[in-house]
Amino acid sequence: MATTASAPVLNQNVSAFVGKTQKILINGKWSEAASGKTFSTYNPATGDVLSRVAEGDKEDIDRAVKAARAAFDSGPWSMLTPSERGRMIWKLGDLIEKHLEEFAQLESLDNGKPLAVARVADVPLAADMFRYMAGWATKIEGNTIPISSGGGKTQFLAYTLREPVGVVGQIIPWNFPLLMAAWKLGPALATGCTVILKPAEQTPLSALLLGELIQQAGIPDGVVNIVPGFGETAGAALAAHPDVDKVAFTGSTEVGKLILQAAAGNLKKVSLELGGKSPNVVLQDADVESAIDGAAMAIFFNHGQCCCAGSRLFVENEIFDKVVDGVAQHANNIKVGPGMDPTSDMGPLVSEEQLNRVCGYLESGKAEGAKAVTGGSRHGDKGYFVKPTVLVNTNDRMKVVKEEIFGPVVTVIPFRNVEEIAAKANDSVYGLAAGVWTRDIKKAHRIASLLRAGTVWINCYNVFDAALPFGGYKQSGWGREMGHEVLEAYTEVKAVCTPIS
Ligand code: ADP
Repeated sequence: MATTASAPVLNQNVSAFVGKTQKILINGKWSEAASGKTFSTYNPATGDVLSRVAEGDKEDIDRAVKAARAAFDSGPWSMLTPSERGRMIWKLGDLIEKHLEEFAQLESLDNGKPLAVARVADVPLAADMFRYMAGWATKIEGNTIPISSGGGKTQFLAYTLREPVGVVGQIIPWNFPLLMAAWKLGPALATGCTVILKPAEQTPLSALLLGELIQQAGIPDGVVNIVPGFGETAGAALAAHPDVDKVAFTGSTEVGKLILQAAAGNLKKVSLELGGKSPNVVLQDADVESAIDGAAMAIFFNHGQCCCAGSRLFVENEIFDKVVDGVAQHANNIKVGPGMDPTSDMGPLVSEEQLNRVCGYLESGKAEGAKAVTGGSRHGDKGYFVKPTVLVNTNDRMKVVKEEIFGPVVTVIPFRNVEEIAAKANDSVYGLAAGVWTRDIKKAHRIASLLRAGTVWINCYNVFDAALPFGGYKQSGWGREMGHEVLEAYTEVKAVCTPIS
């Protein structure tokens, strides 16, 4: 059901879905938490309770791990052919597309993002991720390897097998709830792993709807188990669980370090996609209008709640004022309002905690001498809205320049010439993404090679594709999501060798 410009109409299935108490999916059955506890998820546009959700904890994680273990070790999943697995994963992509409107509305209600954005970005990209990974299910190959052992007297046949890593715990954040579930589940299923997925406590709803579609796609019971709950309880139990072979985490760098410690008990494999403070560099020879549009989108997309947000905007001296004015104008033109209102360009932040965090940074910036060209405070007094903000007069020591804000706040920093830009841009503990805007092809690729970041966008920003690897240098993470690179994180390599002479 479509929304109209004046009165957004809630899809009936969505009203019914949020109206029921959400359950935990273990071994193909939906159940309450072992403790019987539930928690609330809130509509960030109003602060009102949106839905009640079973609160998974250690005991539920234990049950989910048992189910995933059985499905991996002896269950139907390992018996299926790669082609059968691939077809189920493809079907899941189709089902997501069929339920696009429901997913888009759930994301908007639970996370706050504009419905129109969820319709064209979050949901189609999630469907695409499953389809891309469906193709990989039949292409997980090893190599034959000529070896020299035996000194020529004995000949060997040696080859490698690429096998699923096993039972995987996946812990995801709230900024792109469905898409992050797809980034995680896609490669796990393609490689033949089984999963316990823990969605973020702020935004568990779309993952739970996805659970229903996973069942409809014919993916056998126990292959994907979904346990909503809090990070410190359910998440920590999953990261530490001795029967889990790998943990894949997306979230803050701070929690990434806790995941790593928790994983040390059984030395489970770890992949991490963490924070960022990404530099976006505009040279004076850029197409300035498109650089301004791109710089605004780089920070304001998803309200700045992107780990790769272009939050440090470096602009060559000669065009500094023009770019600052242009980005500020963009910020002023953004209509902030509820995500479900079709006239809104930017919704609320996800939670009160996030609102306080971002406003804390705005205060700290002010106290340290930064100047807000526009924005700089909360928007309204109901819901968790923040004004899109452009900060200047900053220096390298300020918290707003060094730390990840995860809100619609950009610091614009002048630079003198290309020679100094790489050092300035790389002056961060993070290394997730970067942007470069220039018409000079040599400079563009030279700067791209100098930037210590997992993604460099040249004359564009926030371009994502299931086929493009994404992940961080330095404290932005370990390993890559998407592309064929992600398959490494979900497979073990076995070398097999036998004499044949
Ligand atoms: P944010 O600070 O932006 O909310 P987090 O890194 O805290 O992001 O959360 C990302 C995910 O990690 C969520 O699913 C959350 O529940 C989970 N999480 C938080 N703390 C822990 C923890 N100690 N152990 C495991 N998972 C956690």
